[in-house]
Amino acid sequence: METPEIKLPQVDVNIYRNKKPVEIPIVESFICTESASPNFIRHITFDVSGTELEGKVRAGQSIGIIPPGENEKGRPHQLRLYSVSSPSLGEDGEGKLVSTTVKRVIDEHWETQELFTGICSNYLASRKVGETVQMTGPSGKYFLVPENHEDFNYVFFATGTGIAPFRGMAKDLAGAGSKSQVVIILGVPYRTDLMYRKEFEALANEFENIHFITCVSRELPNPDGSRNYVQTKINTHSDLLLPILEQDNTLIYICGMKGMDMGIYQELHKKGLTGYTELKGEAAVKPVAEWTREDIKLGVRPSKRVFVEVY
Ligand code: NAP
Repeated sequence: METPEIKLPQVDVNIYRNKKPVEIPIVESFICTESASPNFIRHITFDVSGTELEGKVRAGQSIGIIPPGENEKGRPHQLRLYSVSSPSLGEDGEGKLVSTTVKRVIDEHWETQELFTGICSNYLASRKVGETVQMTGPSGKYFLVPENHEDFNYVFFATGTGIAPFRGMAKDLAGAGSKSQVVIILGVPYRTDLMYRKEFEALANEFENIHFITCVSRELPNPDGSRNYVQTKINTHSDLLLPILEQDNTLIYICGMKGMDMGIYQELHKKGLTGYTELKGEAAVKPVAEWTREDIKLGVRPSKRVFVEVY
């Protein structure tokens, strides 16, 4: 079977820009990890009704948030992009309520030992229901489920808050009555960091074509002691994944940490699944077991069946 043509939907972008954002109220903000998580990750919902964003923000796109204040150069802060985690019809089914998933960035500077707190993530996570934010967007025309969604199966690989777009996409597919195979693989460091676990489990229980797999990198490592990463599942869950990944109409979506894409490509090649990448240079001539980081960086590119958003 040949891969069907991938028809991406036409979407609206940049309805509101940096110079002319729109003021949007927050209508919901709650922690979406397990209750004991030491990380603060919030599901935040905005009411875009009555603005040009109503009905126009699709799963897979991002919204921009402009935090108040100035940077160290005395200029207004730039907008930050956040992946939308609501389905394309919004949380309300009418395109009025758009949500995102925000993790407070709290870190220690490796050299100075100073506390580092992300400006926009902390601003957003501290905003209360009823307060407003300056929003731009939507942005993104490419990281989308095709219009002809029934022609494909989907394997969604997420690390951390990279799960955001897949919540919306999985709900879109379920809502459309899709019979496609949909596998959501979520990787987090500790069990308490799992986001939306109950929602995904409920989806997987209700729809036999939707599967939810979690991997907990540090707390539940692999038997050989290595970290349990999303790509590990291609091996450990091969009964489910291989028959899906072997089909020419399966699409892979990758969202989250930079570098996860390369690990996924390697595991796919180890299983002889060569249709998701294009190879050149050393990677094209060496067996996958001998690929160096450089070979991968220079010579492994995703094919049109792979959608990547990592940073
Ligand atoms: P996190 O809680 O730290 O979880 C990330 C998980 O990925 C951990 O289990 C981590 O394992 C694992 N991991 C690390 N390196 C990996 C690799 N090379 N391959 C596979 N798994 C790997 O995540 P987070 O703090 O939420 O960060 C999520 C990242 O996603 C951020 O960088 C964010 O900017 C990005 N993101 C991107 C988008 C987008 O592009 N649209 C949207 C949302 C989030 P260990 O830590 O145990 O090594």
